[in-house]
Amino acid sequence: MPTYDYKCSACNHSFELFQHINENPAKKCPACGKLKAVRVIGAGGAVIFKGSGFYQTDYRSEEYKSKAKKETEPAKSEKTETKATEKK
Ligand SMILES: [Zn+2]
Repeated sequence: MPTYDYKCSACNHSFELFQHINENPAKKCPACGKLKAVRVIGAGGAVIFKGSGFYQTDYRSEEYKSKAKKETEPAKSEKTETKATEKK
């Protein structure tokens, strides 16, 4: 779950919020209750990935890539064999 930084433009209260990436941005400030909170996208990195879930996904995609590569290589030699048969 990414963490988003929000800042209220009404009272300047800043807070962090865990949100799904597709969720609508929060607008309600927990300090004053006004709908003045805006997502802060700054140089410090507004989106912080926490937890080990993302590392597991990275590992899995690497494994998937090498697997896909292995599956592609034999397919090439198969094509060559077919060509050789056609030449006959
Ligand atoms: Zn506020």
